[in-house]
Amino acid sequence: MSTDASGRVLVAVDGPSGSGKSSVSRSAAQQLGFDYLDTGSAYRSLAWFALEQGIDMHEAGDVIDLLEDFELRLALDPFDREVFVGEANVTEAIRGTRVSAAVSSVARIAGVREWLNDRFRLLMTHGDHDNPRPGIITEGRDITTIVAPHAQVRVLLTASDEVRQARRALELGEARDNVSAIVTERDAQDMRVVDFMNAAEGVTVLDSTELSFEETVAALVSMVRAATSSR
Ligand code: C5P
Repeated sequence: MSTDASGRVLVAVDGPSGSGKSSVSRSAAQQLGFDYLDTGSAYRSLAWFALEQGIDMHEAGDVIDLLEDFELRLALDPFDREVFVGEANVTEAIRGTRVSAAVSSVARIAGVREWLNDRFRLLMTHGDHDNPRPGIITEGRDITTIVAPHAQVRVLLTASDEVRQARRALELGEARDNVSAIVTERDAQDMRVVDFMNAAEGVTVLDSTELSFEETVAALVSMVRAATSSR
C-alpha cells in the first residue's frame, strides 16, 4: 500500500448532513483496520462546552478564549464511539438538538476552524501511539479541500435531499417534516463557510441515493483499496 510522508494512508470524506458519511466512514474504517476521525464531533463538543460555560457564541473572541480550556478526547478507534470533554462524557449530549442548533455558530469562527484543523492534522499524521493503524478515514465538511487536500483518497459522499432527510429522521427517531427544516437550515448556514455540496478538483463523488448502507461502505472500501494498491 502506498502511504503519505507520515507513512499512513489518508482518506478524506466530506458530505452534507444525512449523507451517511459518519456511519459509512466508521464502518469502512472498521473493515480496513484504519483509524476513524469524526471532525463534526469536535465542533459539536466545542458547542457543548460553550453552552455549558454560558458563552455567547456570537462573540468570536469569547469562543476563541475558551479553546485554552477545551480538553477534547476523541477516540480514533472506529469501534469506540465515546467522546469526552475533560472528565465529562459528552457522547450522547453532542447529538442532541441543543448542540445541533448551536454548532454552526462556533463552526463559522475562522480562529476555531484553524485551531481544530491543526489538531485534526496532527491526529491524521500521528494516529494513536498505543494502537498504531496503517491509515485513517477523516470525515467532515472541508477535509478534502482544507484539512487534507493531499489525502490519497478524497471522496464527496452525497445523496438526494429526500433520502438525506429520511435518513436523518430515522437516526433521530423523529418525523421527517420536523427534521427537514432543521437539517436544511444547518446545511444552509454551514454552506456559507465551506462548500460541501460540490466536489473540488480531484475529489470523487460517491452518490449513495440508490445504494444500501452496505453497498456504500463497500464502494468506499474498494476506492481505498484501489487507490492504495495502484501507486
Ligand atoms: O457532521 P456533523 O453533522 O456532526 O457536524 C456538525 C457540525 O460541525 C456541522 O453542522 C458543521 O457546522 C460543523 N463542521 C464543520 N466542519 C467539519 C465538520 C463539521 O464546520 N469538518
